[in-house]
Amino acid sequence: DTPKTAYKRVLLKISGEALMGDQGFGLHPPTVERIAREIQTVHEMGVEICMVIGGGNIFRGLQGSAQGMERTTADYMGMLATVMNALAMQGALEALGIHTRVISAITMNEVAEPYIRRRAVRHLEKKRVCIFAAGTGNPYFTTDTASALRANEMSCEAIFMGKNGVDGVYDKDPAKHDDAKRYDEVSYDDVLAKRLAVMDASAIALARDNDLPIIVFSLDEPGGFRGILAGEGTYTKVQG
Ligand code: UDP
Repeated sequence: DTPKTAYKRVLLKISGEALMGDQGFGLHPPTVERIAREIQTVHEMGVEICMVIGGGNIFRGLQGSAQGMERTTADYMGMLATVMNALAMQGALEALGIHTRVISAITMNEVAEPYIRRRAVRHLEKKRVCIFAAGTGNPYFTTDTASALRANEMSCEAIFMGKNGVDGVYDKDPAKHDDAKRYDEVSYDDVLAKRLAVMDASAIALARDNDLPIIVFSLDEPGGFRGILAGEGTYTKVQG
């Protein structure tokens, strides 16, 4: 039986690396399928779901530019990488019988819908999972910024940052320090001042200025996403 949740509409952000499994690069279909099943359990609760997926498993603009590419070209390549990830996630969700739309910030009508805010809202009302692809459509931004932007535009109640290997925000890197402590709650300003690893600074500022909470949790635990929406489990809430 399905647990109750206080949330009506949320945005789930995952990095591109969340889709690569143990391969170290690219897409690992069984991993994509596993995450799709996590989303399915939340969809069953009646929650309206937006998604933003990164592209770091395929291409990152900063890496390209560090190797001599023009930054904007490299960033567009990164944005296109997020479209590939979005299509993979769409396929996995649709295989589970969930209706979806891939909505791209860069128009490519043959593979994805263009971003039209009112149309996206309508999809959500019809319980279609909206996967926002191509980031913000602008170089020099990230998919974190895209998450904060779309979550605000879609009036989501929170951004859920699904992480691998970590179940929240720590005062120092828990992989390197045994005494690292997880915050239950932390303010936007502390995240910025202490440079805590949540999202990049422009994304945090965009969330802060619109009072949009960010919930950082682990995607590794089966049922973890659904549990947190039902008020259980460990996570860090960034707000206030
Ligand atoms: N990107 C961009 N503008 C955006 C979103 C993404 O230029 O609005 C590019 C940028 O080059 C970035 C790449 O797309 O490195 C992949 O996104 P991101 O690094 O955020 O992916 P993640 O680290 O979450 O996998």
